[in-house]
Amino acid sequence: MSVRAKKHLGQHFLTNDNIAKKIADSLTDEGYNNILEIGPGMGVLTKYLLEKKSKIKVMEIDSESVYYLRDVFPIEHIKLDTSSEKFTIIEGDFLKQNLATLFSHSQTAIIGNFPYNISSQIVFKAIENRSLIPEFSGMFQKEVAMRIAEKKGSKIYGILSVLTQAFYNVEYLFTVPPDVFNPPPKVNSGVIRLTRKPNYSLPVNEGLFFRVVKTAFNQRRKMLRSSLKSFNLSVTLKEEPIFAMRPEQLSVQEFVDLTSKIANDGTGDH
Ligand code: SAH
Repeated sequence: MSVRAKKHLGQHFLTNDNIAKKIADSLTDEGYNNILEIGPGMGVLTKYLLEKKSKIKVMEIDSESVYYLRDVFPIEHIKLDTSSEKFTIIEGDFLKQNLATLFSHSQTAIIGNFPYNISSQIVFKAIENRSLIPEFSGMFQKEVAMRIAEKKGSKIYGILSVLTQAFYNVEYLFTVPPDVFNPPPKVNSGVIRLTRKPNYSLPVNEGLFFRVVKTAFNQRRKMLRSSLKSFNLSVTLKEEPIFAMRPEQLSVQEFVDLTSKIANDGTGDH
């Protein structure tokens, strides 16, 4: 296969079939009958996904890749199912999609060897649409994968960790070195799996929770009483011990508790 990767699209094509199969196998296939692959490129993951029982949609932004995929995976060559719905190739930008429409309101797992330049945005979009996404797995830049999976008390624990883990259990599965890609990226890659929690809504105002987490980590070295100044907290509240902590010291549950305290604070101006 000839490859002229387009850097601005984050194109690093996986060249190792064993790893591609391992990534495809990271989906448990439980609790859904639909899978969306983001950024299939030359289809190295796609061919393993097509062996699954789920219906497969792939969304690719690069028209040359789409042309290639249509050529390699003509619908009539897909043995497993005669229905044309088994496999759909869509040309488009994942970040611009309305997922409820795209998924026809059906539970859909997401997978991909993601374009690293937009991988955090992909995760945030999945979180926003979590009621439709029971499982999400794939390859990220290793540092980002670790950040998503990280627990409190670490330098890389941050907004992405807290917001993801509020709704999903995260497992770091394995690391992939640069030399199995064409062209090789400058960094290691990591594969993770997100499994939606049975209860994926919060007992507090979610908008406020998101704002508290983001605001606290925007000044991660400061104590909460100073980084959360813009919330106009009462003096009494600010004296509570939690406000002398820094954001990386708080678990997801403690962020939920903190949000609840802020929501119930007397000044009522949040
Ligand atoms: N899955 C393939 C390609 C990975 S590279 C493999 O493992 O070899 C990332 C792919 O994502 C590229 O094909 C790139 O064109 C595509 N891509 C980049 N931005 C995208 C977007 N916003 N929406 C959909 N696909 C995108």
